[in-house]
Amino acid sequence: MRSHYCGEITEALVEQDVTFCGWVHRRRDHGGVIFLDIRDRDGIVQVVFDPDIPESFNTADAVRSEYVVSITGKVRNRPEGTVNPNMKTGQIEVLGKQIQLLSKAETPAFPLDEYSDVGEDVRLKYRYLDLRRPEMQRNLVFRSKVNHLVRNYLEQNGFLDIETPILTRATPEGARDYLVPSRTHEGQFFALPQSPQLFKQLLMVSGMDRYYQIAKCFRDEDLRADRQPEFTQIDLEASFVDEEDIMGLTEGMIQHIFKTLKDVDLGTFPRMSFAEAQERFGSDKPDLRIPLELVDVGDLMAEVEFKVFSAPAKDPKGRVAALKVPKGSELTRKQIDDYTKFVGIYGAKGLAYIKVNDKADLENGLQSPIVKFLPENVRQAILDRTAAENGDLIFFGADQTKVVNEALGALRVKLGEDLNLYTAEWAPLWVVDFPMFEELDGGKLTALHHPFTQPSTDVTALKDSPVEALSRAYDMVLNGVELGGGSIRIHDTDMQKQVFEVLGIGEEEAKEKFGFLLDALQFGAPPHGGLAFGLDRLIMLMVGASSIREVIAFPKTQTAACPMTQAPGTVSQAQLRELNIRLREKAKSE
Ligand code: ASP
Repeated sequence: MRSHYCGEITEALVEQDVTFCGWVHRRRDHGGVIFLDIRDRDGIVQVVFDPDIPESFNTADAVRSEYVVSITGKVRNRPEGTVNPNMKTGQIEVLGKQIQLLSKAETPAFPLDEYSDVGEDVRLKYRYLDLRRPEMQRNLVFRSKVNHLVRNYLEQNGFLDIETPILTRATPEGARDYLVPSRTHEGQFFALPQSPQLFKQLLMVSGMDRYYQIAKCFRDEDLRADRQPEFTQIDLEASFVDEEDIMGLTEGMIQHIFKTLKDVDLGTFPRMSFAEAQERFGSDKPDLRIPLELVDVGDLMAEVEFKVFSAPAKDPKGRVAALKVPKGSELTRKQIDDYTKFVGIYGAKGLAYIKVNDKADLENGLQSPIVKFLPENVRQAILDRTAAENGDLIFFGADQTKVVNEALGALRVKLGEDLNLYTAEWAPLWVVDFPMFEELDGGKLTALHHPFTQPSTDVTALKDSPVEALSRAYDMVLNGVELGGGSIRIHDTDMQKQVFEVLGIGEEEAKEKFGFLLDALQFGAPPHGGLAFGLDRLIMLMVGASSIREVIAFPKTQTAACPMTQAPGTVSQAQLRELNIRLREKAKSE
């Protein structure tokens, strides 16, 4: 039907006849001459119809926005002064000879080139129109290219693309499952996989050696900020490897994708322990583009006459930390109040600060509601430790360590954003040496990654002091976003049993949930490990989108629904009966 895509029609084709198809992006009537901008996936080309060929002219005159047409014409240089250097096809235009109307269109619900104030619900309801916007087309084209590079890279490294089931049982990632009732097994349910974790481990036991999959994962979580109930992972697993192998391979893959698609050299990724990341940045996914760091001052505060500081300073589970903001004394009262509210989200009860007006004058040079509680030697020590200069501001967090880290960690990122403190465009790193377990309120332990992660210690050490145990897990972080995470797995049943014991998972429960994996481990499991990347997040970062919804063709809303298909929806009584399901009265009447 066509000789060229719209975006391919450039100076190289001047004087040639071309045929192309697409949507009418814009129509302008310039006193007896009709201009049409025709758009397809590849770009936009300008066509001119003059009245010489009346039939074509009349059709061109009659078309409206988003009509679908096929046009044949001759490519010519644009008249001087009308060249558009910002367009790929901006040097030329097509003198239209024939135009065929292929499809009419209703007026779209929103203009396709001015989308800034269109509500997301409307965009998602008419997603097929929204996806016509050049920006969305670029995002999906980019995504396709990343997928292609990933497949090539992994295939070249000996990985096999193997699909794993969608109708399965609960997996160990710890979120709520999406359930699917079984018709043939009354009262029983499938779970949609939260990840292919168990199957990829089984594939290693099967001797597949290297597996990958661009896999859909399902997690029924309350949708915080930027999550989707179904999302995509680049999932991989390999046998006879250690963490160096997996980290080296996947670092190479991300470097390769950035180099190929963005001409960016990410360089070698630095590594940082979980403990160091928490201490310096209050986070296990530090954004290293921002130069601000948390500095411990607990030892200075233990004896001060200010309970807010001295109590957490003396508490083994408490922390007092400072965060210096260079030139921060320019912050207004209102800004500081807003930051105080902001840290409140993370449970911080306040946000103490000192403005350093004159560091040589310890008595009057420090402006702060709390400085009166601090003796001069402590004031001096704070200035020294934070290397504060005149004009700087120092924030303080004092609370349980977790609260201080989360609050100051988030504040650090917010300040970086608000004050544009970035020192680099891209800052990747590996976070390693995670604790094996995390203590929940009430003292119960939960696996920080998942229970199949290999501890760095042996069975006895794990049994004796589980809280101290580190794991062989690793996370790849880019610009403060966790791009992917994985680990070397347990391949020995004694260790697996011990981990379950620490987690309080009894033999029965383990058998019931993961029995097939435990069985498999007894039949000759190779040492193995892997990692999974969040594909949506990776694409989002690379195209500079504000949300993963901008890089998913048909995403769900924040309430996990689809305004276009109206999913989820009700089903007929007959369908429910087949599944042996009766809805409770309340749900029915809602
Ligand atoms: N299955 C893990 C996850 O989804 C990743 C991995 O350990 O490979 O977080």
